[in-house]
Amino acid sequence: MSSQQPPIPRKWWYRFWFFCLALAGLVVVGNYAYLNVRHDMLLIAHKQSNVFEVFYQRTRVLDPTQLIQFVDSNAIKSPIFSENRDALAYVYAYDFKTRARLAQIPLMPATRDLLAAYQYVLSYPDVINIYAIFDNHRMLGLMSDNTQLPDQLFESNTLMDQIEPWHHYFGCAAFTLSHAPCSKDEAQVSDIYTDTFTKLKTITMYFPFVFYDQAENTYRYGLTGIDIAVDTAFREVLLPYETHNPTRTVVSFDEVEPCRPFHICLNTPLMQTKASSTLYLKWSYSYGDALHQLVFYSPAFKVYLIALLLIMLTWRQVYARLRALTHTDHLTRLPRRDILNETLLQDHDYLMLLDIDNFKAINDRHGHNVGDLALTAFALGLRTNTRKGDISIRWGGEEFVILFKGLGDEAAMQLAAARLLTHPIRIAEVPAPITFSAGIIRIRDYLQVTDAVALADELLYHVKQHGKHNIAYYHGQQIRLVREDTPPQS
Ligand code: GH3
Ligand code: MG
Ligand code: MG
Repeated sequence: MSSQQPPIPRKWWYRFWFFCLALAGLVVVGNYAYLNVRHDMLLIAHKQSNVFEVFYQRTRVLDPTQLIQFVDSNAIKSPIFSENRDALAYVYAYDFKTRARLAQIPLMPATRDLLAAYQYVLSYPDVINIYAIFDNHRMLGLMSDNTQLPDQLFESNTLMDQIEPWHHYFGCAAFTLSHAPCSKDEAQVSDIYTDTFTKLKTITMYFPFVFYDQAENTYRYGLTGIDIAVDTAFREVLLPYETHNPTRTVVSFDEVEPCRPFHICLNTPLMQTKASSTLYLKWSYSYGDALHQLVFYSPAFKVYLIALLLIMLTWRQVYARLRALTHTDHLTRLPRRDILNETLLQDHDYLMLLDIDNFKAINDRHGHNVGDLALTAFALGLRTNTRKGDISIRWGGEEFVILFKGLGDEAAMQLAAARLLTHPIRIAEVPAPITFSAGIIRIRDYLQVTDAVALADELLYHVKQHGKHNIAYYHGQQIRLVREDTPPQS
């Protein structure tokens, strides 16, 4: 037999706080996942080599005079081929005035030496087309796929002054040797557009050139153009992951693009052209994809779930333990008075208030340490002499409260009370047994803790006045003692 720790009351706000905690955890994890994706984006964007820089370097090896030599020496003699399985690429020529194609020559292994540099640049998968536009209204170029070559150029491309980059370099002042080109840029970079023939999203980079034409005995100038396939060139940032990718990925020269409804948008500068326009990388995740990403790919979410599960499983035990710790008196290991509330009170049948008799004398004669030992022994005595459903509380000083459960009537109460009286506590340091006086009341008539304790205190006072070492109770209006035969103590 022994009294137990009081049960934990189930209150709605425990669940509310748990819900708030879980929600706050989810917000933290969501934010962490968002920051992680942002970090990934920056990392991936940072790793992407600057396409513009790469092409500045590649273009340095190109020599437009080689194109002229190659076409002039072949175009007239060669028929226009449409198919040749062994071709490394197709060299083509257009006349801007007539818009007609002049030549389409398969570049064969035997002749590749002359155009090795062009072939090298074209061999990169992101290059669709590489060409030179000359001031004599000719366009010469290389392409891998001859089916992409039209017979006639489009109207808009037939006049030099309709080509924007031409203005950019040569339009602002007559281009002569004494005049430097107006722009100091090394290349003009077009916006992203969809190429008419390949249907691919394309960026074109234009580089100006000038050289002395010995045959014509004059300076020639023009533009080298490189059509770059955007999706191929930026594959690594547009499709960064093997298994999961953003819902939508775009590279664009426009910084601001409205975020679609129900999307989470990320945007970061990707690279800079030499003319200082910035290419932006944009990722957006639909809410569904963001959730999918969070649930299946975020380690933080897994940790969160495990933590939540553990908290749910251990919450009651941990809470009970913490509550017990904060509500336990450190000397006697009994619960402290603040655990006694109306709910706990109403859950029991009888309340007994006990006060150790002549405790001051024990302290005075044997010292405080012995007094403490006596208190500890007394508390243990209460535990062992009460039943499992009963609760013993250190009320303060040398006063205690016991809540009794399962005492159906007065006779049962008298038995329980007598059990305590007949087991006085002894400790080796104090010769006399440690006795107590108490008052016990039936709880159901008193709803408030203070009322119940005040009444028990009245009874306790009565016992102190009538010889101590006894327990008083009300029998109707009458005060009775559990041990009527006790001789008064001094
Ligand atoms: P009565 O029989 O009338 O109850 O007399 P009493 O001496 O027990 O009553 P009183 O209230 O005068 O004395 C209680 C003493 O208990 C006073 C206080 O110093 C002592 N006390 C209270 N708490 C502790 C404690 O934690 N340890 C020790 N050693 N003494 C304590
Ligand atoms: Mg006292
Ligand atoms: Mg006392």
